[in-house]
Amino acid sequence: MYNKYSKKAQEFIDDKEILDTIQWVKDNINNKQLISEVLEKAKQLKGIDHREALLLLECPFEDLNNKMYDLAKYIKNKIYGKRVVLFAPIYLSNYCVNGCVYCAYNHKNKDIPRRKLTQEEIANEVKVLQDMGHKRLALELGEDPVNNSIDYVLESIKTIYSIKHKNGAIRRVNVNIAATTVENYKKLKEAEIGTYILFQETYNKENYEKLHPYGPKHNYDYHTEAMDRAMEAGLDDVGIGVLFGLNMYKYDFVGLLMHAEHLEAVMGVGPHTVSVPRIKDGNNIDSSKYSDAISDELFKKIIAILRITMPYAGIIVSTRESQQVRAETLEVGVSQISGGSKTSVGGYTTAPEEKTEQFSITDERTLEEIVEWLLKLGYVPSFCTACYKEGRTGDRFMQLAKSGQIVNCCNPNSLITLKEYAENYALDNTKNIANKVINEELETIPNEKVKNLTRKYLEEICDGKQDFRF
Ligand code: SF4
Ligand code: SF4
Repeated sequence: MYNKYSKKAQEFIDDKEILDTIQWVKDNINNKQLISEVLEKAKQLKGIDHREALLLLECPFEDLNNKMYDLAKYIKNKIYGKRVVLFAPIYLSNYCVNGCVYCAYNHKNKDIPRRKLTQEEIANEVKVLQDMGHKRLALELGEDPVNNSIDYVLESIKTIYSIKHKNGAIRRVNVNIAATTVENYKKLKEAEIGTYILFQETYNKENYEKLHPYGPKHNYDYHTEAMDRAMEAGLDDVGIGVLFGLNMYKYDFVGLLMHAEHLEAVMGVGPHTVSVPRIKDGNNIDSSKYSDAISDELFKKIIAILRITMPYAGIIVSTRESQQVRAETLEVGVSQISGGSKTSVGGYTTAPEEKTEQFSITDERTLEEIVEWLLKLGYVPSFCTACYKEGRTGDRFMQLAKSGQIVNCCNPNSLITLKEYAENYALDNTKNIANKVINEELETIPNEKVKNLTRKYLEEICDGKQDFRF
């Protein structure tokens, strides 16, 4: 029985409610009046529910779809302005005891060399990432209680935060590790991680179990209830996601939204971020056998509706996607992208070794190229990590976001961190464009006090100081 307040996976992700939602949408798909009312409701920036969201996703009317895209662009612009936050993944180990059939790191894949970084190797990777200009990392590793123990994860986080190479510093480490216990989540909290990220892959229990045939990840309930345990442990910024292409997309789209509604209902705050990876080839992984892979057009529509449904959640698209898809999805909702990424263990310091990649990358540009591209598209690339440092997490962050006040922090912070990037890492051409954008955007800060302080910080960055924030 569907109950979003329940702590049981199969009640807050109720199979019948998802199937009923799909049927309800089929029954109402020609109801233009109803679709228009949903769009009208969404204009209030308070989100819409999973039934309304699927109705928009399935909407066959071109005029209403155009209105939907306009609304997504309006919401994106109103809440995020021109800012795009940048990050990079860092792969620590590809040892894994699970059997995820879509992942090159699955235990039975004997063709992939297994590797786990030492703390020294991690430090070297971090130096390379710092030299690119990164401030925000997403830590990735397989599930293996022996090779990738929680102590190894904690030690690695400590190493990452400790490296101060030239002007560099990693200021936020988001962590993507397997579902674990409240006790371990508390340890991650103490280690001062940013967002705890865990993808559901698919919300359909039967398919989930087939796709994860053995290993701890086989346990659907334990995996699906992980965010409740993480939040109970005090990790109030959590990131959810599904791997599109594994199951029928409508089912997973609705499941994803029901998961977000559950967290909001029970914990008082929804997910901090939502990721929308699409399945890609990897070592011994042929993505073409997944018949439910979604088209670029549908992918863009999904992102636009996620933006409408969860106006305040960051939406992340990785380098799995092409430059063109990233450009189109940035317009309708994406707020964070990775840049200069390597998806293999030790990928930043060792020669390209395709065999250890978890999945193949489509956007292979350097961070510098991505920053320049974003600037030319009219965006402000941001390396901001201020909220965690200022204690703006969980419901405190959401209150500020929903009241619109967070913009007073995000905008100046994006300029400050872009300035740091321009001064310390950018080539001349990018630096010139960045400085032009910074000067223009500075004038648009409405609050005189904030504007003057930002100006002062920008000048001090030119004198070699850094780490200013609002
Ligand atoms: Fe292991 Fe994660 Fe790959 Fe599954 S998706 S095989 S848990 S690394
Ligand atoms: Fe993100 Fe907070 Fe920085 Fe805004 S101020 S970009 S919400 S970290």
